[in-house]
Amino acid sequence: MIPLVEERLNKKIKIKNKSRSDFSFRMKVQEERLQELLSYATQKVPKFLNLEKENSVNPRILLNEISTVDKEQIIDSYEDYVSDDINNINENDCYVTNTSGSTGTPFSSIHNIESYYEGLANLMFILDEYNITEHPRILRIAGRINGFSDKTEETLPFFSLGLIGINGSLGKFETSVLNQIIDFKPNIISGHGSEILLLYKIFEKNQLLHKLKGIKLLICGGESLTSQTRNYIKNAYKSKVVDTYGMQEIGDIAVQCSSIEDHYHIYEESVIIELIDEDGNLINEKNNQSGEFVVTGLINKYMPFMRYKTGDTGLISSKCPCGYKGETIKLLEGRKMNPVVLKDGDLLNTYVLKRDLEDINVVCFQLKQSIPGEIDINIVINEEKNKVDIFKYREKLNLELGCKLDIRLNFCNIEDLIGSNGKIKSFLCNVETS
Ligand SMILES: [Zn+2]
Repeated sequence: MIPLVEERLNKKIKIKNKSRSDFSFRMKVQEERLQELLSYATQKVPKFLNLEKENSVNPRILLNEISTVDKEQIIDSYEDYVSDDINNINENDCYVTNTSGSTGTPFSSIHNIESYYEGLANLMFILDEYNITEHPRILRIAGRINGFSDKTEETLPFFSLGLIGINGSLGKFETSVLNQIIDFKPNIISGHGSEILLLYKIFEKNQLLHKLKGIKLLICGGESLTSQTRNYIKNAYKSKVVDTYGMQEIGDIAVQCSSIEDHYHIYEESVIIELIDEDGNLINEKNNQSGEFVVTGLINKYMPFMRYKTGDTGLISSKCPCGYKGETIKLLEGRKMNPVVLKDGDLLNTYVLKRDLEDINVVCFQLKQSIPGEIDINIVINEEKNKVDIFKYREKLNLELGCKLDIRLNFCNIEDLIGSNGKIKSFLCNVETS
């Protein structure tokens, strides 16, 4: 690794560790970063050029002048949210992520490299908090990955990294990949809780569980971790479990308290969370009032997400029962991921269907299963040409899954997918698995 990169990361880790333990330092970092972000955005990002700069002495007042925004609004005027610097940036200084979140609308966002370091610093903080004293060997279930790939050489000296994807039905998972995982000797597994559970089931099915030993910590994120899944994986792997709350667009937002399960400590040095009611009004008296989280990411300048509506609901409290000083959130409702159940009882990772639909770039999708072996894929498209891709997609699924899953493709309007609470839920797979 280039020494300069390591130096920058070490500096970030230092700030992270001090922020996490020292409340007043954390607040100071938050204010400085907000100030810096606003002064950049008001000069370089079209959407924010006209903000009233006289208020810049108090960044929180300036931030409050920005209207809340959701993903669809950003998609509608995408270029307004991207920095004018974007064409002159060295490609090593930025990266792009794709997601469709819980609403099923595909979306890509541009990040500065600092955001990546911030994520690493958060990871190092978690490892420290869970007393991972031996060299961390992290197996990450990453999606879109075929087979096993050892990325240790490309990572930092702090840990080893192995990547796998669960890209089909469990019955078809290759045993050779399981052996590569065993040889890698992971002591940490990270990924969606539902996929960590599926990996366990694959090992169980192949009678190789006795060879998967020494898992110390499971780091979950990217979906709502139900207590059912949490308890299952905790007992199955005989490991500690920590959940994280974040969004691809923003990065990490909060980390689960290590002693009170449903409280999450906010990374206040890297995000600001506000709460709004159903009419979009700010809830000032936050304790014990639920609302939608609105987040401002403080690290990414190239595409700033300021007062961004997350679509997630919950509560914010000013402290945690564990004694931690700082704001914590309690999530009320989020994305629950059950696998798709095939006719023969085999399971299919729901994320496989999701990733392919994101690649086709549909406007919105919804996966619905209530009977084993049958699924409804509801799709909203805006271009006729997408239809061809979607038929190809069904053909590919039919080829892979044979007669184990009846797929009903339904082309719909966006209004057809809105639930009783006014929101779209893209994952409605409700067949219970044992
Ligand atoms: Zn706590």
